[in-house]
Amino acid sequence: MEGEQRPRLVLATANQGKVVELADLLGERYDVAPRPDGLAETVEDGDTLVENALKKAREVVANTATLALADDTGLFVAALGGAPGVLSARYAGPQASSEDNIAKLLGSLAGSADRSAYFETVLALVSPDGTSVIARGRVDGHIVAEPRGASGFGYDSVFAPSDGDGRTFAEMSSVEKQKISHRSRALRDVKNQVEAKGDSL
Ligand code: IMP
Repeated sequence: MEGEQRPRLVLATANQGKVVELADLLGERYDVAPRPDGLAETVEDGDTLVENALKKAREVVANTATLALADDTGLFVAALGGAPGVLSARYAGPQASSEDNIAKLLGSLAGSADRSAYFETVLALVSPDGTSVIARGRVDGHIVAEPRGASGFGYDSVFAPSDGDGRTFAEMSSVEKQKISHRSRALRDVKNQVEAKGDSL
């Protein structure tokens, strides 16, 4: 888009790591800005990642009248009927830390032979005229017996992706994780969909 003015894209997240990742991938096409200060947090009460991501993006659009992008991620564990899923951040309670969530997850899976799980990220891109694009990224793997590794965040220390060599996400460098992660796959999906639509969003 050289020579043209890039449209502004406001993110629903202020998380610095996510802002950098999103700006990296979408910066060529959009003038990417983090969540404006002072915007009230969205209540994430949807039953699905799509509902929550759309709700977050729409609230930013309503407050900024600008194209907005929101993400929502969950860890879905087969033996737990897909839990913690959309409730991943609050699995062990409203103020739960990652350690609390991991302890509850390992406790719930004790004795289970099936430890298969996947991470999914949904991205919602919403324009002021109400048009939306939904993108998804998924990575399959399994929950290990005990936390391993010190990098990453959230459930990284207990999730080993199937595409890997048995290491958990927390035992990988951020570059290695990004090559296969749910979030980077969703980012590539949103980028491809926007490019396929030309300038219509
Ligand atoms: P959020 O939608 O990014 O806020 O994530 C929801 C929950 O999933 C939080 O508990 C995060 O810690 C966890 N989570 C999101 N992405 C990842 C990841 O890449 N690795 C591990 N945990 C994650």
